[in-house]
Amino acid sequence: AKSKGKSAYERFAPQMKESSHERLQMESRMRRALELDEFQLCFQPIVSTSSGNLQAAEALLRWNNPTMGLVMPDRFIPLAEETGLIIPIGEWVLKEACAAAVRWQSITGQRLGISVNVSPRQFRDPGFVAAVMNALELSGLEPERLELEITERLILDHSIETSDILHRLDSEGIRLSVDDFGTGFSALSYLKSYPFDTLKIDKSFIQDVLKEQEDASLVKAIITMAHSLGLTVIAEGVEMAEQIEFLKEQECDFAQGYFYSEPAPDARFEQWLRDRRA
Ligand code: C2E
Ligand code: CA
Ligand code: CA
Ligand code: CA
Repeated sequence: AKSKGKSAYERFAPQMKESSHERLQMESRMRRALELDEFQLCFQPIVSTSSGNLQAAEALLRWNNPTMGLVMPDRFIPLAEETGLIIPIGEWVLKEACAAAVRWQSITGQRLGISVNVSPRQFRDPGFVAAVMNALELSGLEPERLELEITERLILDHSIETSDILHRLDSEGIRLSVDDFGTGFSALSYLKSYPFDTLKIDKSFIQDVLKEQEDASLVKAIITMAHSLGLTVIAEGVEMAEQIEFLKEQECDFAQGYFYSEPAPDARFEQWLRDRRA
Protein backbone atom coordinates (compact mmCIF):
# COMPACT_ATOMS: atom_id res chain seq x y z
CA ALA A 1 0.00 0.00 0.00
CA LYS A 2 2.97 2.27 0.70
CA SER A 3 4.06 2.22 -2.93
CA LYS A 4 0.57 2.75 -4.37
CA GLY A 5 0.57 4.78 -7.59
CA LYS A 6 4.28 4.40 -8.27
CA SER A 7 5.59 2.39 -11.16
CA ALA A 8 7.76 -0.59 -10.51
CA TYR A 9 10.71 1.42 -11.80
CA GLU A 10 10.13 4.28 -9.38
CA ARG A 11 9.75 1.89 -6.52
CA PHE A 12 12.84 -0.16 -7.13
CA ALA A 13 15.26 2.08 -8.96
CA PRO A 14 16.39 4.31 -6.06
CA GLN A 15 16.95 1.29 -3.88
CA MET A 16 18.95 -0.46 -6.58
CA LYS A 17 21.12 2.56 -7.12
CA GLU A 18 21.84 2.80 -3.46
CA SER A 19 22.55 -0.88 -3.14
CA SER A 20 25.03 -0.95 -6.03
CA HIS A 21 26.82 2.01 -4.47
CA GLU A 22 26.79 0.15 -1.18
CA ARG A 23 28.14 -2.94 -2.87
CA LEU A 24 31.05 -1.04 -4.38
CA GLN A 25 31.80 0.54 -1.04
CA MET A 26 31.59 -2.81 0.68
CA GLU A 27 33.86 -4.39 -1.91
CA SER A 28 36.58 -1.80 -1.46
CA ARG A 29 36.32 -2.16 2.32
CA MET A 30 36.51 -5.91 1.99
CA ARG A 31 39.65 -5.66 -0.11
CA ARG A 32 41.41 -4.01 2.80
CA ALA A 33 39.81 -6.00 5.61
CA LEU A 34 42.40 -8.78 5.68
CA GLU A 35 45.43 -6.51 6.04
CA LEU A 36 43.56 -4.38 8.59
CA ASP A 37 42.83 -7.54 10.57
CA GLU A 38 39.08 -6.94 10.62
CA PHE A 39 38.00 -10.56 10.29
CA GLN A 40 37.32 -12.68 13.32
CA LEU A 41 36.32 -16.28 13.87
CA CYS A 42 33.63 -17.35 16.27
CA PHE A 43 33.35 -20.95 17.39
CA GLN A 44 30.28 -23.00 18.17
CA PRO A 45 30.49 -26.34 20.00
CA ILE A 46 29.37 -29.62 18.45
CA VAL A 47 28.26 -31.94 21.25
CA SER A 48 27.51 -35.67 21.50
CA THR A 49 23.79 -36.17 22.13
CA SER A 50 24.35 -39.42 24.06
CA SER A 51 27.26 -38.43 26.34
CA GLY A 52 27.11 -34.65 26.33
CA ASN A 53 30.81 -34.63 25.45
CA LEU A 54 32.28 -31.92 23.30
CA GLN A 55 33.47 -33.33 20.00
CA ALA A 56 34.39 -30.38 17.82
CA ALA A 57 33.60 -26.77 17.02
CA GLU A 58 32.49 -25.03 13.87
CA ALA A 59 34.34 -21.88 12.83
CA LEU A 60 31.99 -19.05 11.82
CA LEU A 61 33.34 -15.91 10.22
CA ARG A 62 32.61 -12.35 11.37
CA TRP A 63 33.71 -9.03 9.93
CA ASN A 64 34.31 -6.14 12.31
CA ASN A 65 34.40 -2.97 10.26
CA PRO A 66 34.85 0.43 11.93
CA THR A 67 32.10 2.05 9.83
CA MET A 68 29.72 -0.87 9.30
CA GLY A 69 30.10 -2.47 12.70
CA LEU A 70 29.77 -6.24 13.06
CA VAL A 71 28.89 -7.71 9.67
CA MET A 72 27.44 -11.23 9.59
CA PRO A 73 28.53 -13.73 6.91
CA ASP A 74 25.20 -13.85 5.10
CA ARG A 75 25.73 -10.16 4.32
CA PHE A 76 29.26 -10.35 2.95
CA ILE A 77 30.05 -13.94 1.85
CA PRO A 78 27.98 -13.64 -1.36
CA LEU A 79 29.94 -10.53 -2.41
CA ALA A 80 33.21 -12.19 -1.38
CA GLU A 81 32.22 -15.09 -3.65
CA GLU A 82 31.39 -12.84 -6.60
CA THR A 83 34.60 -10.87 -6.35
CA GLY A 84 36.83 -13.85 -5.65
CA LEU A 85 37.91 -12.31 -2.36
CA ILE A 86 36.57 -15.45 -0.70
CA ILE A 87 39.78 -17.18 -1.80
CA PRO A 88 42.25 -15.18 0.37
CA ILE A 89 39.61 -14.81 3.09
CA GLY A 90 38.98 -18.55 3.04
CA GLU A 91 42.71 -19.25 3.35
CA TRP A 92 42.83 -16.99 6.38
CA VAL A 93 39.86 -18.86 7.91
CA LEU A 94 41.53 -22.23 7.35
CA LYS A 95 44.79 -21.12 8.98
CA GLU A 96 43.09 -19.46 11.96
CA ALA A 97 40.69 -22.34 12.53
CA CYS A 98 43.40 -25.03 12.47
CA ALA A 99 45.63 -23.01 14.79
CA ALA A 100 42.75 -22.52 17.24
CA ALA A 101 42.03 -26.25 17.40
CA VAL A 102 45.67 -26.91 18.28
CA ARG A 103 45.54 -24.25 21.06
CA TRP A 104 42.46 -25.86 22.62
CA GLN A 105 44.42 -29.04 23.15
CA SER A 106 46.34 -27.52 26.07
CA ILE A 107 43.09 -26.31 27.68
CA THR A 108 41.03 -29.47 27.32
CA GLY A 109 43.66 -32.18 26.96
CA GLN A 110 41.38 -33.38 24.17
CA ARG A 111 41.94 -33.58 20.46
CA LEU A 112 38.88 -31.60 19.45
CA GLY A 113 37.86 -31.36 15.83
CA ILE A 114 37.36 -28.18 13.86
CA SER A 115 34.78 -27.69 11.11
CA VAL A 116 35.35 -25.08 8.44
CA ASN A 117 32.82 -23.83 5.86
CA VAL A 118 33.94 -23.89 2.26
CA SER A 119 32.17 -21.89 -0.42
CA PRO A 120 31.87 -23.10 -4.04
CA ARG A 121 34.21 -20.49 -5.55
CA GLN A 122 36.87 -21.32 -2.97
CA PHE A 123 36.44 -25.06 -3.50
CA ARG A 124 36.87 -24.73 -7.27
CA ASP A 125 39.98 -22.59 -7.01
CA PRO A 126 42.97 -24.55 -8.36
CA GLY A 127 44.96 -23.73 -5.21
CA PHE A 128 42.32 -24.98 -2.78
CA VAL A 129 43.78 -28.37 -1.82
CA ALA A 130 47.23 -26.80 -1.40
CA ALA A 131 45.74 -24.10 0.84
CA VAL A 132 44.14 -26.75 3.04
CA MET A 133 47.38 -28.72 3.28
CA ASN A 134 49.28 -25.53 4.08
CA ALA A 135 46.94 -24.68 6.97
CA LEU A 136 47.40 -28.20 8.37
CA GLU A 137 51.20 -28.03 8.06
CA LEU A 138 51.52 -24.56 9.60
CA SER A 139 49.36 -25.47 12.58
CA GLY A 140 50.47 -29.07 13.03
CA LEU A 141 46.83 -30.18 13.18
CA GLU A 142 46.19 -33.81 12.25
CA PRO A 143 44.11 -34.02 9.04
CA GLU A 144 41.54 -36.25 10.77
CA ARG A 145 40.62 -33.35 13.04
CA LEU A 146 39.70 -31.02 10.20
CA GLU A 147 36.24 -31.32 8.70
CA LEU A 148 35.32 -29.30 5.63
CA GLU A 149 31.65 -28.37 5.34
CA ILE A 150 30.35 -28.35 1.81
CA THR A 151 26.80 -27.50 0.80
CA GLU A 152 24.60 -29.75 -1.30
CA ARG A 153 24.41 -26.99 -3.88
CA LEU A 154 28.12 -27.34 -4.61
CA ILE A 155 27.83 -31.08 -5.09
CA LEU A 156 24.91 -30.66 -7.45
CA ASP A 157 27.12 -29.77 -10.39
CA HIS A 158 28.28 -33.41 -10.58
CA SER A 159 31.48 -32.34 -12.27
CA ILE A 160 34.55 -34.52 -12.49
CA GLU A 161 36.55 -31.74 -10.80
CA THR A 162 34.27 -31.72 -7.75
CA SER A 163 34.51 -35.46 -7.41
CA ASP A 164 38.29 -35.36 -7.91
CA ILE A 165 38.86 -32.69 -5.26
CA LEU A 166 36.65 -34.50 -2.74
CA HIS A 167 38.58 -37.72 -3.26
CA ARG A 168 41.93 -35.97 -2.97
CA LEU A 169 40.91 -34.37 0.35
CA ASP A 170 39.52 -37.68 1.56
CA SER A 171 42.74 -39.50 0.70
CA GLU A 172 44.64 -36.97 2.82
CA GLY A 173 42.49 -38.06 5.76
CA ILE A 174 40.51 -34.82 5.94
CA ARG A 175 36.86 -35.25 6.91
CA LEU A 176 34.06 -34.03 4.68
CA SER A 177 30.54 -33.07 5.60
CA VAL A 178 27.39 -32.19 3.71
CA ASP A 179 26.16 -28.89 5.15
CA ASP A 180 22.51 -27.72 5.15
CA PHE A 181 21.38 -31.21 4.23
CA GLY A 182 17.84 -31.30 2.88
CA THR A 183 17.78 -27.82 1.35
CA GLY A 184 19.45 -28.55 -1.98
CA PHE A 185 16.69 -30.51 -3.77
CA SER A 186 19.38 -32.83 -4.97
CA ALA A 187 19.32 -36.47 -5.83
CA LEU A 188 20.68 -38.53 -2.97
CA SER A 189 22.88 -40.64 -5.20
CA TYR A 190 25.91 -38.43 -4.58
CA LEU A 191 26.01 -39.71 -1.00
CA LYS A 192 27.17 -43.10 -2.19
CA SER A 193 29.66 -41.93 -4.79
CA TYR A 194 31.39 -39.18 -2.80
CA PRO A 195 33.55 -39.79 0.28
CA PHE A 196 31.51 -37.88 2.86
CA ASP A 197 31.86 -38.65 6.55
CA THR A 198 29.17 -36.46 8.05
CA LEU A 199 25.74 -35.15 7.24
CA LYS A 200 24.50 -31.97 8.89
CA ILE A 201 20.70 -31.75 9.04
CA ASP A 202 19.66 -28.20 8.22
CA LYS A 203 18.29 -26.17 11.08
CA SER A 204 15.01 -25.56 9.26
CA PHE A 205 14.10 -29.22 9.93
CA ILE A 206 15.16 -29.07 13.57
CA GLN A 207 13.28 -25.84 14.33
CA ASP A 208 9.82 -27.44 14.20
CA VAL A 209 10.74 -31.01 14.97
CA LEU A 210 8.63 -30.98 18.16
CA LYS A 211 5.62 -29.26 16.58
CA GLU A 212 5.40 -30.69 13.08
CA GLN A 213 4.95 -34.41 12.57
CA GLU A 214 6.31 -34.10 9.01
CA ASP A 215 9.57 -32.57 10.20
CA ALA A 216 9.94 -35.23 12.87
CA SER A 217 9.39 -37.96 10.25
CA LEU A 218 11.91 -36.39 7.88
CA VAL A 219 14.55 -36.06 10.58
CA LYS A 220 14.03 -39.69 11.63
CA ALA A 221 14.32 -40.85 8.03
CA ILE A 222 17.45 -38.77 7.38
CA ILE A 223 19.18 -40.18 10.46
CA THR A 224 18.32 -43.77 9.53
CA MET A 225 19.44 -43.29 5.94
CA ALA A 226 22.69 -41.54 6.93
CA HIS A 227 23.58 -44.27 9.41
CA SER A 228 22.91 -47.02 6.92
CA LEU A 229 25.41 -45.29 4.62
CA GLY A 230 27.94 -45.11 7.44
CA LEU A 231 27.66 -41.36 7.90
CA THR A 232 27.81 -39.47 11.18
CA VAL A 233 24.85 -37.13 11.76
CA ILE A 234 24.91 -33.64 13.25
CA ALA A 235 21.68 -31.71 13.91
CA GLU A 236 22.03 -27.95 13.50
CA GLY A 237 20.11 -25.17 15.21
CA VAL A 238 19.23 -27.01 18.41
CA GLU A 239 17.77 -24.50 20.88
CA MET A 240 15.78 -26.57 23.38
CA ALA A 241 16.41 -29.49 25.72
CA GLU A 242 13.36 -31.28 24.27
CA GLN A 243 14.97 -31.22 20.84
CA ILE A 244 18.07 -32.89 22.27
CA GLU A 245 15.84 -35.55 23.86
CA PHE A 246 14.17 -36.23 20.53
CA LEU A 247 17.52 -36.39 18.71
CA LYS A 248 18.94 -38.70 21.36
CA GLU A 249 15.97 -41.06 20.96
CA GLN A 250 16.52 -41.05 17.21
CA GLU A 251 20.22 -41.79 17.76
CA CYS A 252 21.40 -38.63 16.09
CA ASP A 253 25.14 -38.53 16.91
CA PHE A 254 25.81 -34.85 17.54
CA ALA A 255 23.98 -31.58 18.02
CA GLN A 256 24.94 -27.97 17.59
CA GLY A 257 23.02 -24.82 18.47
CA TYR A 258 22.19 -22.04 20.89
CA PHE A 259 21.10 -24.64 23.44
CA TYR A 260 24.80 -25.37 24.08
CA SER A 261 26.29 -22.06 23.06
CA GLU A 262 26.01 -19.29 20.53
CA PRO A 263 29.05 -18.92 18.30
CA ALA A 264 31.61 -17.26 20.58
CA PRO A 265 34.74 -15.26 19.80
CA ASP A 266 38.05 -16.99 20.50
CA ALA A 267 38.61 -15.75 24.06
CA ARG A 268 35.02 -16.44 25.09
CA PHE A 269 35.07 -19.89 23.53
CA GLU A 270 38.29 -20.72 25.42
CA GLN A 271 36.64 -19.54 28.64
CA TRP A 272 33.67 -21.77 27.83
CA LEU A 273 36.10 -24.69 27.44
CA ARG A 274 37.71 -23.94 30.82
CA ASP A 275 34.36 -23.55 32.60
CA ARG A 276 33.23 -26.91 31.25
CA ARG A 277 36.29 -28.62 32.70
CA ALA A 278 35.92 -27.01 36.10
P1 C2E B 1 25.97 -22.44 8.40
O1 C2E B 1 27.23 -23.09 7.98
O2 C2E B 1 24.72 -23.23 8.23
O3 C2E B 1 26.19 -22.04 9.91
C1 C2E B 1 25.23 -22.16 10.91
C2 C2E B 1 24.53 -20.84 11.15
O4 C2E B 1 23.48 -21.05 12.09
C3 C2E B 1 25.43 -19.79 11.80
O5 C2E B 1 25.06 -18.51 11.29
C4 C2E B 1 25.09 -19.92 13.26
O6 C2E B 1 25.36 -18.76 14.02
C5 C2E B 1 23.61 -20.21 13.20
N1 C2E B 1 23.13 -20.94 14.38
C6 C2E B 1 23.84 -21.71 15.21
N2 C2E B 1 23.06 -22.24 16.17
C7 C2E B 1 21.82 -21.79 15.96
C8 C2E B 1 20.54 -21.99 16.62
O7 C2E B 1 20.43 -22.69 17.61
N3 C2E B 1 19.47 -21.37 16.07
C9 C2E B 1 19.55 -20.60 14.96
N4 C2E B 1 18.44 -20.02 14.51
N5 C2E B 1 20.73 -20.38 14.31
C10 C2E B 1 21.85 -20.97 14.80
P2 C2E B 1 26.17 -17.46 10.85
O8 C2E B 1 27.34 -17.52 11.78
O9 C2E B 1 25.46 -16.16 10.66
O10 C2E B 1 26.66 -18.00 9.45
C11 C2E B 1 25.79 -18.02 8.35
C12 C2E B 1 26.38 -18.78 7.19
O11 C2E B 1 27.51 -18.10 6.65
C13 C2E B 1 26.87 -20.16 7.56
O12 C2E B 1 25.78 -21.03 7.64
C14 C2E B 1 27.82 -20.44 6.42
O13 C2E B 1 27.13 -20.91 5.30
C15 C2E B 1 28.38 -19.06 6.11
N6 C2E B 1 29.72 -18.94 6.71
C16 C2E B 1 30.07 -18.67 7.98
N7 C2E B 1 31.40 -18.65 8.13
C17 C2E B 1 31.93 -18.93 6.91
C18 C2E B 1 33.27 -19.08 6.39
O14 C2E B 1 34.28 -18.99 7.10
N8 C2E B 1 33.39 -19.37 5.06
C19 C2E B 1 32.31 -19.53 4.24
N9 C2E B 1 32.52 -19.82 2.96
N10 C2E B 1 31.05 -19.42 4.69
C20 C2E B 1 30.85 -19.11 6.01
CA1 CA C 1 28.28 -24.88 8.30
CA1 CA D 1 36.47 -39.38 4.53
CA1 CA E 1 24.44 -25.40 8.00
